[in-house]
Amino acid sequence: MFESVIGLEVHAQLKTRTKIFCGCSTVFGAPPNTHTCPVCLGMPGVLPVLNKKVVDYTLKMAVATHCTVNHKSRFARKNYFYPDLPKGYQISQYELPIAEHGHIHIELDGRKKRIGITRIHMEEDAGKLTHDTHRPVSRVDLNRAGVPLMEIVSEPDMHTPEEAGAYLRHLRAIVRYLDVSDGNLEEGSFRCDANVSIMPTGADTLGTRTELKNLNSFKHVEKAIAFEVSRQKEILLEGGKVIQETRLWDPAKNRTFSMRGKEDAHDYRYFPDPDLLPLVIDDEWVASTRKSLPELPEQKKTRFIESYGLPPYDAGVLSTSRELADFFEACVKLFPKPKPVSNWIMGPLQGLLNTTGKSITGSPVSHAALAGLLKLEDDGVVSNKIAKTVFDEMAVSGDSAKSIVEKKGLVQVTDVSAIAEIVDTVLGRNPKEVEAFKNGKTKLMGFFVGQVMRETRGKADPKIVNQLLNKKLS
Ligand code: ADP
Ligand code: MG
Ligand code: ZN
Repeated sequence: MFESVIGLEVHAQLKTRTKIFCGCSTVFGAPPNTHTCPVCLGMPGVLPVLNKKVVDYTLKMAVATHCTVNHKSRFARKNYFYPDLPKGYQISQYELPIAEHGHIHIELDGRKKRIGITRIHMEEDAGKLTHDTHRPVSRVDLNRAGVPLMEIVSEPDMHTPEEAGAYLRHLRAIVRYLDVSDGNLEEGSFRCDANVSIMPTGADTLGTRTELKNLNSFKHVEKAIAFEVSRQKEILLEGGKVIQETRLWDPAKNRTFSMRGKEDAHDYRYFPDPDLLPLVIDDEWVASTRKSLPELPEQKKTRFIESYGLPPYDAGVLSTSRELADFFEACVKLFPKPKPVSNWIMGPLQGLLNTTGKSITGSPVSHAALAGLLKLEDDGVVSNKIAKTVFDEMAVSGDSAKSIVEKKGLVQVTDVSAIAEIVDTVLGRNPKEVEAFKNGKTKLMGFFVGQVMRETRGKADPKIVNQLLNKKLS
């Protein structure tokens, strides 16, 4: 039997206004080569100047992921020749990164697991090439050259595609909580390479790894890893050898294919960049960064469990983003029953956001509007079922729950004698079912309740309906 081993390298584009070593704008979508200058174009005789914000942001991430910050780190030149890189080298960090030896936790099926972070370092992005499909022509856009990236390298601590997915999701939640990166896989501001190998279960040396690229959604990451694991198993079972290489994920064919042999570090001829001074970070800088950190996803989840009494699952879902968590808390402030609020957010509201393609900050139903609806439900003015109808109406018209209920006459019927009359009518109309019920077919209760609710267009208080039916049928 085999065990799979997975380590991820993540490149997060940092949300700075300007590039890492020059003052050019990082704004996306400008006409090609308009956000360039002699520094990011690699002209001779110009010098890079490190953007302090890049260090600030990376430091936040380092502290948030429990890394040891190196008081002295260094930039290095990673040499390679390709038209997306006019200098002929990428400025990165190599033997002395800004931070090392961190970790985050993932949680799967209620079990926590620690995933090590080997290192975090800063580097510059390269330009973008577009290749003409009809002619042998390629174009170079250097707007992206010099855009700051933070690379986060994990230990090979993951063993299933699901673990890799959970790690990546948590990492993304952290960069978003810190507001240092958009964390968007689809748009490329959060890029992941997955390193995958397999080894006989219990072996103490890792197998040969392949590196998977072109993974631009969580689904692709998980599918590509699963494919790669089974591909490698097949090779080993047939007596073959996995070769170390870089492979591309093909989402259309659901497979990976070889792109190039994997280069080793020595191929890049790394050496310290003589144009940049070593970066010195003192204790005070680290301490003030630590103080500036917001509450992070894991802490928020714990607090939601402890102070609102939410089940861990709910707390986990609600703390996936700061905005969602804020929405929940704002709603609970107005309607202090956390579990119903959580149910409504995870259920109808999430459904609404999915179908309308809106984010929580642009939710068609505000936290105050939702609290208003929940109050009506809680006061027994509307049943849960009617509340759902009112919710849909609120999403469309933007009206308050109260005014919709009034306008449409949806107030719940709680008048016992009125409901009793309808119950009698329903029972009178269905003598066969009543007979069967009395002979033990108790499942028919649902049928009777449904009939009464239909008669009242869903407005009868289900509690009273049930009580009356129980009484009259016993
Ligand atoms: P490179 O740049 O050469 O890919 P890095 O050190 O940046 O090297 O990244 C190596 C990544 O591969 C890390 O995430 C590490 O955990 C992972 N890794 C290393 N060896 C293995 C292996 N045998 N199987 C799976 N993942 C591995
Ligand atoms: Mg790599
Ligand atoms: Zn520039």
